[in-house]
Amino acid sequence: MKFYSTNSPNQLVSSQEALFQSLPADGGLYMPESIPVLPTSFLSDLSGRSLPEIASVLTSLWLGDELTASDIDTLVTRAFPFDTPLVELEADRLYALELFHGPSLAFKDIGARFMAGLMSHYADRLSREIHILVATSGDTGGAVAMGFHNVSGVRVSILYPKGRVSLLQEKQLTTLGGNIQAYEVDGSFDDCQTIVKRAFLDPELSQAYSLSSANSINIFRLIPQSFYYLRAIAQLAKNHLPVAFSVPSGNFGNLSAGVLAWRMGMPAQAFIASTNVNKVVPSYLQTGQYVPMASLATLSNAMDVGNPSNFVRLQHLFSNNTSALSSQVKGYFFTDDETVSEMLLLRDRYNYLACPHTAVGLLGLQSYQQNSVDNCGIALVTAHPAKFSPAVDEILGQTVEVPDRLAILSERQKQVTTIPATFEAFKEVLLQVV
Ligand SMILES: *Cc1c(COP(=O)(O)O)cnc(C)c1O
Repeated sequence: MKFYSTNSPNQLVSSQEALFQSLPADGGLYMPESIPVLPTSFLSDLSGRSLPEIASVLTSLWLGDELTASDIDTLVTRAFPFDTPLVELEADRLYALELFHGPSLAFKDIGARFMAGLMSHYADRLSREIHILVATSGDTGGAVAMGFHNVSGVRVSILYPKGRVSLLQEKQLTTLGGNIQAYEVDGSFDDCQTIVKRAFLDPELSQAYSLSSANSINIFRLIPQSFYYLRAIAQLAKNHLPVAFSVPSGNFGNLSAGVLAWRMGMPAQAFIASTNVNKVVPSYLQTGQYVPMASLATLSNAMDVGNPSNFVRLQHLFSNNTSALSSQVKGYFFTDDETVSEMLLLRDRYNYLACPHTAVGLLGLQSYQQNSVDNCGIALVTAHPAKFSPAVDEILGQTVEVPDRLAILSERQKQVTTIPATFEAFKEVLLQVV
């Protein structure tokens, strides 16, 4: 499979280059040259298939010319030792696809772990250690740290703004040790990003290390996110198809992955772009005008995005045809008050504890269903509610239990290097580690 940049569609790169480059130098985004088609035999025999089984079939469609069947098997079994279960809230009508059963309790684990496994595969062949630099405001860093932990051939340096990530997030970044090194930067998230960007441009660092990024914009984080849409269908009775998928969205990677699966042949009645008041995409779907804005802070803060980075990809998936896009993707947005009411309603009516992002997704699905009776829908559950304590606990008036796999981190010792917010300081410590 080859990939093009959305800014220069005629120049193709290999999957290995798209993987390690993350971002094309021309400022575009990588997209596949062609979209593989799912065999009809696979679709008709999907029922009951596990996440690794589905991942294996799809990975061979994408990378079958580069990876052996045994490479693929190793990759998917290591990446997905957990499931993405479908939970019934209302029979035949309302389902929740839980994507938080991975180590960092959010759907970002799925993309990060697949990308980590793939990088490790190529690193083994390169016989040179890959050094990944990542700036994080919390969530992405946790998924990347846990995804790359103990992955051979790869070392990870994570920069985060001191005192500005939650305690649980900090534990994920700083307690793993081994090949994961955390740097606490005395500055903002923007400072962390600036340092990482400068590091990629520094000749001395590039000579010392094979630097790479685990940017959330990497196409190999997006592709694996399409796997769980098919896993959802594998858990649903066939007479419910095609279903509508509601996706709580910020940068629109998750929703783009669903559209990618649909382009490969997965049945889908519609995709619902559910957002908080950062409603650039729902507005675009209404008016046809794309107007980026400064982001507004909300309760569902992982979706506080005023200029979604995957919007260009979404357009490319519809060959830049706005009316095709707006007929398959429906947009709804919600305020924090509506989100809070929904969290309470989900608890009281369905005994279901949801994080604010998930509540926005369920609100979108219910709004969509009001206009089209007799349909079945699946809302994506993007994170475990405990990930957003104490805010969630306060709203619900109860303590949401932290799953054991994360609770154990709180006893571990924080290991971190504190640096001032300058590139020079980072470079100095990085060169000492050789
Ligand atoms: C990242 C994130 C989102 C937004 O996903 P996008 O792919 O950026 O649209 C939604 N919910 C949670 C919990 C997240 O961490």
